[in-house]
Amino acid sequence: MDRIGVVGAGTMGRGVAELFAEHGHEVVLVDVTEAALASARDEIERNVRFAPLVRPGTPVRDPREVSGRIDFTLDLKHLADVDFLIENVTEDWEVKRPLYAELDAVCRPGTPFGVNTSAIPITRVAGLTGRPEHVIGMHFMNPAHLKPTVELIRGHHTSDGTIARTRALLDGVAKGHVLVEDSSGFVTNRVAMLTINEAVFLLHEGVSTAADVDRLFKECFGHAMGPLETADLIGLDTVLLSLKVLYDNFGDPKYRPCPLLTRLVDAGLHGRKTGQGFHSYESGE
Ligand code: NAD
Repeated sequence: MDRIGVVGAGTMGRGVAELFAEHGHEVVLVDVTEAALASARDEIERNVRFAPLVRPGTPVRDPREVSGRIDFTLDLKHLADVDFLIENVTEDWEVKRPLYAELDAVCRPGTPFGVNTSAIPITRVAGLTGRPEHVIGMHFMNPAHLKPTVELIRGHHTSDGTIARTRALLDGVAKGHVLVEDSSGFVTNRVAMLTINEAVFLLHEGVSTAADVDRLFKECFGHAMGPLETADLIGLDTVLLSLKVLYDNFGDPKYRPCPLLTRLVDAGLHGRKTGQGFHSYESGE
């Protein structure tokens, strides 16, 4: 069974690590802070403990057995013998750019690199490595261990072999996949980020309240979540960074972030992960 390297233990990386560990893979989970690794371990063990309640039909598993398959580490060198790598660090080119040179040097030649990004073009990331044919976009949805489908992105150089390898890996953990061509934001976030940003503008202009904006999407359109709840789930910091990436890539003012979004991020209100965003989660909502 493939040994999986997961870089970044934030909102997404911990879900990706959990997914593969739950399916029996050995995982190396790397971050730059002990705090992120400790909170990832806690969240993964909590998720496994409550899985049979939250997901009826899920077998009862020992949380320590699942987390025991994960090597939580600050040391990138532990990635030397992974068979497949999935990168989930902050949505910031200046964070991703220097990392890929290191990953390229540490990982075996030919090890596929799955890039989990909201909006950065995969071809641009692939250009940072000496293995562009082995680089593929793997846009996991949040929470990564629960959402059924992954958006796969073919970069300019991504080989058919890398696509087949990635599909087989996802089949093995019961994830569906939809393959799209490379474009900043891909299919999902070209639409979702604009929708979220427009919803924030509605709030900013006083047209409606956060609760009512979300209620309209759920009760009128039948969406499972409204756009502002979705933003809280993603993380307002990540939404803002993604809009900036889209704005830079297309040079189109339709992606300019709403000033209210910037203000909330500056205020440290990043959504669920900080307990407050457009809605409050202090009481464990
Ligand atoms: P996050 O801010 O929650 O976590 C990012 C993590 O990366 C942090 O723990 C940080 O310490 C770590 N990190 C930063 N630099 C690092 C480095 N050099 N090496 C190792 N770790 C490093 O962000 P997130 O929401 O998990 O997003 C991660 C990626 O996934 C982003 O590119 C984002 O756009 C994408 N994404 C996010 C969502 C979402 O809903 N949040 C969904 C799909 C894709």
